[in-house]
Amino acid sequence: MSEILRVENLKKSYDGFLAVNDVSFAVAKGELKALIGPNGAGKSTCFNMLMGQLRPTAGEVYLDGERITGKRPREIWRRGVGRTFQITGTYQSMSVIENVQMALMSHHKRIFSIAPRAWKLYRDEAMGFLDTVSMADQADRPCSVLAYGDLKRLELAIALCHRPRLLLMDEPTAGMAPSARIELMQLVADIVRDQGVSVLFTEHDMDVVFAHAHHIMVLNRGELIADGSATEVRNNPQVQEVYLGGGTLFKEDANA
Ligand code: ADP
Ligand code: MG
Repeated sequence: MSEILRVENLKKSYDGFLAVNDVSFAVAKGELKALIGPNGAGKSTCFNMLMGQLRPTAGEVYLDGERITGKRPREIWRRGVGRTFQITGTYQSMSVIENVQMALMSHHKRIFSIAPRAWKLYRDEAMGFLDTVSMADQADRPCSVLAYGDLKRLELAIALCHRPRLLLMDEPTAGMAPSARIELMQLVADIVRDQGVSVLFTEHDMDVVFAHAHHIMVLNRGELIADGSATEVRNNPQVQEVYLGGGTLFKEDANA
């Protein structure tokens, strides 16, 4: 499998404090990869450098072979790197489908068109995206009445409107109940399988990570200490050292 993302010796220093220290990894095309690690490990800092919000102190980022280090968020987004935000970016006063239509207008460069024609134009396409995230039955509801998990699914539909090649999801299931977390990540896994999108995500819930990620990376104090399959990561002594303090992060081990 070829790579969609390659990160080489990435570093971020805050006044001498190394939040991300010499991190190198790759994400393959069509892969669902998790980046896990304790609070403060440097996961969000890493994501922000991939998206262009933060300039790396050192290192390089390549998207499908093209160097994108130091490019602006919009330039990176335009090259097909999508992102879902921890705080939902939907317009509360609009309906579910109108939010998706807005994203489609932006994607097709008819930015904020008020022509009724434009709204009609993208309704079918928007419905298709809502169908992908199982939200078609809620198309005409105002966003303000949506349940939190449904807002997250809408957010995912909006991100998909821009046909990302790579989707970055920093704690996509934050604030959700355990069953809803599993459901949302199942949906993401289906999208990865059906649409060939690559996804890099961070997540606290180890059940979600081990159930869905193809490969898992572990970051600790800014350093990548593991990168491999679920079994490899579980059996990694350094990972066990970091997580054993928490006791039951690996459910199977706890039940064994
Ligand atoms: P994670 O997402 O894994 O919880 P972060 O990337 O948010 O970790 O943070 C990594 C480390 O960098 C933490 O110790 C945090 O306090 C520090 N940090 C993050 N942002 C800044 C900043 N703007 N200035 C100084 N230190 C920061
Ligand atoms: Mg974070």
